[in-house]
Amino acid sequence: MSRWEEPAWLRTSNSISDEPDVVYAAFNLAPGPTQFVETEDLTIQVLPFAQANAVNLTLLGSGRDRQHRLYRFNRCGHQQEIQTTNVRRDSFLCDQCEETSRDLPSHIYLIDIKVGEENWLKLGYAKTIDARISHYGLPESAVTEELVTIDFETGRKARTDEAALQKKYRPHRLPVKRMKKFHTKSGSGECYPLKMLDTLKDELNSINEGF
Ligand SMILES: [Zn+2]
Repeated sequence: MSRWEEPAWLRTSNSISDEPDVVYAAFNLAPGPTQFVETEDLTIQVLPFAQANAVNLTLLGSGRDRQHRLYRFNRCGHQQEIQTTNVRRDSFLCDQCEETSRDLPSHIYLIDIKVGEENWLKLGYAKTIDARISHYGLPESAVTEELVTIDFETGRKARTDEAALQKKYRPHRLPVKRMKKFHTKSGSGECYPLKMLDTLKDELNSINEGF
């Protein structure tokens, strides 16, 4: 039996018409002949819908070019054009939420990550550290421990200080290619060996004392 859902409702040209557009998701249907009205100039496009659903997005339509499509974030409702390769990799952020989060309290964090015999440090900044960790795409068996957390009044300030630290210790980072085996979605670029623990802790503590 067919099933219809209504994942989105749009007003595409509210200045010249009050006509709403509805996005339907229809399941268990077979393609058939079209019955367009004479004045309609429509194109049917086949786009992967399930792929978007798998990463909590709703596909709304085509984007500015062949690489981009328009999606709605199921969690916050914002709409954004995203590269399809990034959708496939589950590697994207909502620009509007990110913009807002720069004015909200944030943190720089240093965590210890263990996967089997492998053990490394991860330095980063985030509004919600747990949520950020869940976006790394670590294996199920990963064990994480928060070593240092520094609170910032805004994400903007946290980001600036974090970026300066990452730049300073860039030569000491673990190889991105190797870390991608563990950080399958994100975070592979800011991993450090355990021997950097004291150095990074000292740096973070000195930021803390600067308040
Ligand atoms: Zn958003």
